Amino acid sequence: MSTSGRRGGVRWFAAAVALISTALAGWLVGSSQRDAGGGGTLHQAIRQRSAAASPAASASSGQGDDKAALPLAGKVVVLDPGHNVTNYRHTAEINKLVNIGTAGKACDTTGTATDSGYAEAEYTLDVSRRARAILVKLGAVVKLTQNGDRAFGPCIDERARIGNEAHADAVVSVHADGSAVGNRGFHVIMPAAVHQGIADTRAIVAPSRRLGIALKAHFAAMTGSAPSNYIGGGTGLKVRNDLGGLNLSTVPKVFIECGNMRDPQDAAHVTDAKWRQRAAQGIADGITAFLEGRG
Ligand code: ZN
Repeated sequence: MSTSGRRGGVRWFAAAVALISTALAGWLVGSSQRDAGGGGTLHQAIRQRSAAASPAASASSGQGDDKAALPLAGKVVVLDPGHNVTNYRHTAEINKLVNIGTAGKACDTTGTATDSGYAEAEYTLDVSRRARAILVKLGAVVKLTQNGDRAFGPCIDERARIGNEAHADAVVSVHADGSAVGNRGFHVIMPAAVHQGIADTRAIVAPSRRLGIALKAHFAAMTGSAPSNYIGGGTGLKVRNDLGGLNLSTVPKVFIECGNMRDPQDAAHVTDAKWRQRAAQGIADGITAFLEGRG
């Protein structure tokens, strides 16, 4: 009993040592796992966060995908609201000549106005902003050459440079004409092949023509306006080599003269906000069609 008790005691002691060793080993292993786990815990926390964040991450990457799936994702559009509402206060500045390759031309002009006093510059800015909103929803990056945020201009050479430096996929300069009463309708102005001085439009003639044709079709469809009855022989298209904004462009670019502000019927259109929304939609549709290769 005592022997067995001693033996029992020894066994108990051995068992206790074994137990303690096991426990100690277990603790050490556990501790080392915890150490690893310490880092591991952090990694695990990060993994858990990532896992937790992963639906969000995939949702946001999903949003990214959604954004990437938008028709104009990755496209840069520059809209150029013609003139500037306060150009008239800066005659000296806007009359300064700038080099357009073929000639020296005034930095900018005041633009025309309706009889009621609605200025072309107000019209161009309003329609450009409306078109911008539509294009942004389609995923495009849209830049305006001026947003009513400067005293005058920009000069026509700077307007071109803004599109060039943005590496724009398409640029549309928005205008309305000032012609005789009875002259009505819209026309799109496309660059001629100009290679003179600092102007070289040869690379943009063909894509600008495609842009112009798309713009014409969609502007007509949205507004119901007819092509100009006084410029372009009823085609709604005109090629020019005397516009700095086109001569100095290195990216596809056209102008649109949306109507004749001096004609009462066309003036009724341009002064109507609903018509301007349709004009903006037509411009945005034309740009979209061109950028999607439909134009
Ligand atoms: Zn104009």
